[in-house]
Amino acid sequence: MTSPSNPTEIAREAIRLLAIRRVPPTPDNYKTMYAEVSGIAIDPEDFPERPLRQLLGELPRTTPEQQRLARELDEAIKQHDWSRLRKALLEHIQQLSETQRLAWADLIGQLFRQWEAKSALPPGKKRESLEHVLNSATSHPRILFGRLESLARAWSQGHSGEDMPLTEPPDPESTPPLPLADMPNSPVGGLQRSYQELLAYTLDSCIAPLLTEQPRLQQDIAELVGLMRKAGSAKQFEDIRAGLKRLSFKLELWQEDQNELKRSLLKLLRLVIENMSELVFDDKWVHGQIEVIRQIVDSPLSQRAIDDAEQRLKEVIFKQSQLKLSLQEAKDALKNMLVGFVDHLADFADATSDYHDKIERCAARISSAEHINELESVIAEVMQETRNIQLNALRSRDELRQTQQRVEAAEARIEALEKELEATSQLIRHDQLTGILNRRGLEEICDKEIARASRHASPLCLALLDIDNFKKLNDSLGHAAGDEALIHLARVVRDTLRPQDTAARLGGEEFVLIFPDTDLAQAAIAMTRVQRELTRRFFMHDNQKILITFSAGVTQMQPGDSRDSMLKRADAAMYEAKKSGKNRVVTA
Ligand code: GH3
Ligand code: MG
Ligand code: MG
Repeated sequence: MTSPSNPTEIAREAIRLLAIRRVPPTPDNYKTMYAEVSGIAIDPEDFPERPLRQLLGELPRTTPEQQRLARELDEAIKQHDWSRLRKALLEHIQQLSETQRLAWADLIGQLFRQWEAKSALPPGKKRESLEHVLNSATSHPRILFGRLESLARAWSQGHSGEDMPLTEPPDPESTPPLPLADMPNSPVGGLQRSYQELLAYTLDSCIAPLLTEQPRLQQDIAELVGLMRKAGSAKQFEDIRAGLKRLSFKLELWQEDQNELKRSLLKLLRLVIENMSELVFDDKWVHGQIEVIRQIVDSPLSQRAIDDAEQRLKEVIFKQSQLKLSLQEAKDALKNMLVGFVDHLADFADATSDYHDKIERCAARISSAEHINELESVIAEVMQETRNIQLNALRSRDELRQTQQRVEAAEARIEALEKELEATSQLIRHDQLTGILNRRGLEEICDKEIARASRHASPLCLALLDIDNFKKLNDSLGHAAGDEALIHLARVVRDTLRPQDTAARLGGEEFVLIFPDTDLAQAAIAMTRVQRELTRRFFMHDNQKILITFSAGVTQMQPGDSRDSMLKRADAAMYEAKKSGKNRVVTA
C-alpha cells in the first residue's frame, strides 16, 4: 500500500495504527504514528515548547514578581495557552522597563553616596573618572548604566575607576554616539548634559516633592536645579558640586529627623492604644486623648509637638489611674453606707410594725379582760416587746454609727491617696502652679535639645531667670499673691517666646528658658523682649499695678556641654546680674 500523502489521510491512518496496536492514544504516541505513516521525521523535542522554554530560561528572576511571571509563563507553555503566554510576556516586558527606571534612581543614589564617602582617593580623582565615563563615546543607556555601576563599585572599593575598560561589545541596538559638544567651545558633552538633566529632574521632580514641609530645602533644590540646567563652566560645576554636598548633608539630617519622628509617633500611638482599654472609665478621658492626637495630626508634624503630647498624655494617664483608684474607694464606701442604711431601715420598719401589731393585740386583750390576773401576763408581754424595740433601736444606732465610721475611714484613705499623688508628682513633667514644664520636664527637653543641636551643629541657648525681690512681694502681699505673680510671669514668658522655645520652672521663683537654633545675641534680645513685655503687662493685685522684674543669665552651648554645665554657666551669669543691680540680662 502506498503511503498516504494527504494530511487528512495520514491522520486517519495514524489513528487506525494506534487502535490496531492497542497503543494508548496520547499526543506523543499519535505523533510517533504520524511520523511513521507520513515518513516525515518530527523533531523529538517539542515545538514551540523548547525554544519558548529556552527563552524563559534567559529571563531574569531576581524579584518575586519576576519569579511569579516566570511561573505563569511556564504554566502557559505547558498548557499551550498562547493568549495566557502573550499576557504574561507583555507583563514581564513592562516589569523590566520599570525595573530599569528604578535602577537608575538606585544608581544615582549609589553614585552620590560614594561621591560623598570619605576614601583614600586623592581629591579630584572621582571627578576625573566620572568625566572619563561620561565622555566615553556611548549614548546607549544600558552601556552607560553598566559603566556608571562599575564606577560606583570601584569607588566603594577605593579605586578611582579611571582605568576601567570602556570598550563594550558592539551592541546591535546602539545608536550612534551623540556629538560630544552640543555647545560651541563648551567642555560639556551631550551625554554629560543629559546626565545633568537627569540629575536636575531627579532633584526637581522626585526629591523636592518629598519635602513639602521643608520649604527651605525645596528652595535649595530649586536653586541647585536652576544652576544645573544652565551650567557650562568649570566654576559652575564646582558650585553645583558644593551645593549638592551641602544638600545631601541636609537631606541626611532631615532623614534622621524623619526617622526619629516616626519612632516617637509610634511610641505615642502605642501609649494611647495601651491605655485606652485600661482607662476608659470616663468619656472625658477618651475625648481628651483624642483631642491631643487630633492636634498633632492637624498641625505640621514636629518632634517637639510629639514630645509635648507624649508628656501630657503620660501625665493624664498617671493622674487618671490615681483618680480612678480614689473614686472607686469613694464609691465603695458610699455604696456600703447606703446598703447598710437601707437594711437598717427595713429592719426597723419590720420591727416597729410588728411592735404596733403586738401592742394592738395586747390593748384588745386588756379591754376584754375580766380578771386582774389576766392583765398580768399582757403587761409582761407589753414590757417585753417595748424592751425588744428599745434594744433594736439601740442596735440600729450602733450600726449607723459604725457605718459612719467606715465612711470616715474611707474618706481618710482618699485623702491619703491624694497626699501620695502629691508626693509622686515629681513623676509629672509640668509644674502644677504655672502649667509650664517643671524641673523634670526641663531635664528631658534640655537633653533632647542638646542632642539635636549637636547633631545639626546648630546654636542652642539657655537662660536662667530669677525674680527680683520676690520675698518682699510675698511678705507684703501674701503667699497667694506671690503664687499669682508666678503664674503671671510664666504666662508672659510663654506668650513672648517662639513656639519652638521652651519655658520651665526650676523651682521657687527661678525659671529656665531654652532657645533652639538661636545664638547668644539673639537669645539676649529675646530675654530683653520678655523684660519689656513685663513692663507692658503689669501684674494686677487688688487693682494695683505691680511691676515684676527679673535678673537673668544667658549662655550658648559649647562643644562638650551638658545640661548641668550650661545651667551652671547661666546661674553664674544670673548671679552677676543680681550683683550688678538686678533687673538685667547678663550673657556668659
Ligand atoms: P533676689 O532679688 O535676690 O532674688 O531676692 P528674692 O527675695 O527674690 O530671693 P529669695 O531667695 O531671698 O526669696 C525667694 C522667695 O520666694 C522665698 C520664698 O518664700 C518664695 N517662694 C518660693 N517658692 C514660692 C512659691 O511657690 N510661691 C510663693 N508665693 N513664694 C515662693
Ligand atoms: Mg531665687
Ligand atoms: Mg529672687
